[in-house]
Amino acid sequence: MELKTFKWNQDADGIVTLTWDDPDRTMNVLSSGAMKDIAAAIAKIAGDASIKGAIITSGKSNGFCAGAALDEMESNAGGSGAAKSEEERVRDRYNGVVQFNQLFRKLETCGKPIVAAINGLALGGGLEVTLACHYRVVADNPKIQLGLPESKVGLLPGGGGTQRLPRLMGAGNALPLIMQGGSLDPQKAAAQNVVHKVVPADQLIAEAKRWIKETPDPVQPWDKKGFVVPGGLPNEKGASTIFTMGNALYRKTSYNNYPAQRYILSCVYEGLSVPIDAGLRIEARYFTKLLMDPASRNMIRSLFLSMQDLGKGARRPAKVPPTQVKKLGILGAGMMGAGIGYVSALAGIDVVLLDTTQEAADKGKAYSTKLLDGQIAKGRSTEAKKTELLGRIKPTANYEDLKGCDLIIEAVFESREVKADVTKKAEAQIDAKSVFGSNTSTLPITSLAEASVRPDNFIGVHFFSPVDKMQLVEIIMGKKTGDYALAMAIDFVKQIKKTPIVVNDSRGFYTSRCFGTYVGEGQEMLAEGIVPALIDNVGRMTGMPRGPLELADDVALDLAYKVREQTKKDLGDKYEAGAADKLIETMVVKLGRYGRKNGKGFYDYPQTPDGKKRLWPGLKDIVAFKVTRSNPELVDELKKRFLYRQAVEAARCFEENVVTDPREADVGAILGWGFAPYTGGPLSIIDTVGTKKFVEECDRLAQKYGKRFLPNRLLRDMAEKGETFYGRFKPETKKAA
Ligand code: NAD
Repeated sequence: MELKTFKWNQDADGIVTLTWDDPDRTMNVLSSGAMKDIAAAIAKIAGDASIKGAIITSGKSNGFCAGAALDEMESNAGGSGAAKSEEERVRDRYNGVVQFNQLFRKLETCGKPIVAAINGLALGGGLEVTLACHYRVVADNPKIQLGLPESKVGLLPGGGGTQRLPRLMGAGNALPLIMQGGSLDPQKAAAQNVVHKVVPADQLIAEAKRWIKETPDPVQPWDKKGFVVPGGLPNEKGASTIFTMGNALYRKTSYNNYPAQRYILSCVYEGLSVPIDAGLRIEARYFTKLLMDPASRNMIRSLFLSMQDLGKGARRPAKVPPTQVKKLGILGAGMMGAGIGYVSALAGIDVVLLDTTQEAADKGKAYSTKLLDGQIAKGRSTEAKKTELLGRIKPTANYEDLKGCDLIIEAVFESREVKADVTKKAEAQIDAKSVFGSNTSTLPITSLAEASVRPDNFIGVHFFSPVDKMQLVEIIMGKKTGDYALAMAIDFVKQIKKTPIVVNDSRGFYTSRCFGTYVGEGQEMLAEGIVPALIDNVGRMTGMPRGPLELADDVALDLAYKVREQTKKDLGDKYEAGAADKLIETMVVKLGRYGRKNGKGFYDYPQTPDGKKRLWPGLKDIVAFKVTRSNPELVDELKKRFLYRQAVEAARCFEENVVTDPREADVGAILGWGFAPYTGGPLSIIDTVGTKKFVEECDRLAQKYGKRFLPNRLLRDMAEKGETFYGRFKPETKKAA
C-alpha cells in the first residue's frame, strides 16, 4: 500500500508494520497528511482478510511522534471562511475535531489487533495514537518521554487523551499529568498502566509480533462489559476528592487564567461518568471551545511557534556563515559571570572565567560546583559529568589566558569606567575577529562601544538572573554593531540552548524598560492609597509571577530611586512625575528602606525561623489608605492597568525601533520578565482586544490615572486603519536588524 508519511510492510504471517517516517519533516507530527494516511491504513487493515494485525512504529531516530502539527493548527485556528457566521465557524471546527478523534476511535474498533511499538518520545497526539492501540510496548530507554503537553500551549489533548488516559491510570494519576503537561519515562509509564510492556529496543518489533500471534485482543478495556475505571468514578467516594482538590489547586496556581486546564478537569469529570463515545464528544466540545478562543491561538503562537523560530535564529543575518564559540572569555566572576560560565561549560564550551583576583575567580567557578552538586543530589547529573564540566572552566586573574577566545562576555560591575578598562585589556589579547559582548543591564551599548577599538564587533548580550534558569537572552545592537557580531551572538545563544531576541539600543533596552512599568504601576497604586496586599495579590491574579511591590523590594528601592533621579535629569521638562516619586524618595532617603537587601522595604524581612516576609506596618503612616477592600470591578480595573501599562510601553518600543519584530516583543516579555503567558504577550493583547478598543481604553486610563497610559502615534494610526501588530509587521518578512 502506498502512503506518504508511513511505510507499509506486510509479512508472511499477515502482520503489517506501519513505519512512521514523514519525508517532509525531521520529526514525525500528527499532520493532516499523517491523519489521511492513518485513515487509509485502518480501512485497509479492517477490510483485508489476509491481514491479521498491525504494528505502528517510527522510522525516525529522534522520536515516535512529537504531537499535533501546531503550525497547521495555528494557521487554521479560529475556523476558516471569512464569510461564514460565527455559528457556522464553530460547527466547522467541531466537525473537524470530531473527525480527528473519531479517527483514533476507528483504529481501536477496527476489529484487528493493533500494537504501538514505541521507539522514541511520544507526546501529545503522538501518545494519543498509541493509547488507541490495543497493546503498547516501549523501548527500555529512560530518555523516552510519554506525555500530553498540550496544556503548556493553552490546549487540551483533543485526540481522546482526556478519556483514555484516566481510564488506564485513574483520574488521580492522569489529572496532574494532563493539567501540568508532564511526561513519564517507560518504566514509570508501565508502573502506572499507561503501557503494557518495556523491552530492550532491539526486541520491540519481535514482542509486538509475538503478542499479535499469541494473545491478540482487538477490544479496548473500556469497550468490554463490566469495565471499571481505576480509582473509581468521579462521583464516588475517593475519586470525588481528587476533583475537589484539583479544582482548588487549579484556582490557587492559575487564578483561573488558563481555560485549557479548567476544561481538562471538566473533560475528565464529565467524560469518565459516561461511555467512551459520549466522553469523546464531551472532549471534542471543550477542545472546539479552546480552538475558537484567541487566547489559545496567542499561546500557541508565542509559546511554541515564535519561540521555535527565534530559537532557530530567525533574526540571524543569513549572509554570515555559521559560527561556533569554542573558547569563551568571561570578565567578572560575580553572580552573572559565574552563571554564564556554568551554562556555557554545560554546552561544551571552554570557559576562561576572569576576575580581579584568583580567589574571586575561583569563587565564581565554585558556583558551578554548587549547582552540579545539587543536580547530582537530585539524580540529574553524575560525578563524571561534574568533573568533565568543571574541567572546562579555567578561573584566572590573568588577561593573557583570554588568548584564542572567539567571544568575550563582560559581566563586571555596572560602572562605565570599570567596563571601559576591562574592554581595553581584553581586546589587547584577542583576535581582531573575536566578538566582545557586554552583559550590562542599563548602560547604552553604543556608548560602551566607545572604549572598543572595533565597535562593529561590540554587542550587548544581556542575560537574566538566575542564568541557569532564565531562558531569554536579549541581544542589543549598538549603532556600529555589525552583522558578524550579531550572527555570533545569536549562534552562541543557540549553542547554550537559550532563546535570543534582538533589540536596538535604548534606555533599559526592551525588557527592563517594560518590566519597570509593571513595578512602577504598583507603586502608583500604592501612592493613590490602595492597600499593598491588594496590589500584590492582583498582580499575581493578572498572571504575573509576583506582585509589583515584592518585586520592587527584590530589585532594590534605592536603585529604583537612583534610576528615577537619573531619568529626571536626562529627560528634563519631558519627565512626567508620578505620585510614586515622592513615596520612593521617602522610603529611601528619609527612612533608609532599600528593599530586601537591607531587610526593609515595602515588606519587612525578619530574621525569624520561618524567614517569611511581612508587609511593613509603617506604610500606613506614610500613605493614606483609601481603598482597603476588593471587589470584582476594582480587580478588573487594576488588572487592566497592569497589563495595558506594559502593553503601551511595548508599543512605544516598537515605534521607537527598540524592538522590531512582534514575535520578539511577545516572547521577550514572557521569557524575560514573566509577562502573563496566557495572553501570548503584550502585543498579542493589543491585537486580541483590537487596536481601536485598546486605544479608547488607554485614553480613558490616561484621563483617570496619568499620561503614562496615552497611546502613541503608531497605536493611533493602527487603530484608524484597523491594523494589528502581527498583520502590519509581518514577522516572516522581517529581516535581521
Ligand atoms: P557582581 O557584583 O555579582 O559581580 C561583578 C564581578 O565583577 C565581581 O566578581 C567583581 O569582582 C568583578 N569585577 C569588578 N571589577 C573587575 C575588573 N576590573 N576586572 C575583572 N573583574 C571585575 O555583579 P553582577 O550582578 O554579576 O552583575 C554584573 C553585570 O551584569 C553588571 O553589568 C550588571 O548590570 C549586569 N546584569 C546583572 C543582572 C543581575 O540580576 N544581577 C542581570 C543582568 C545583567
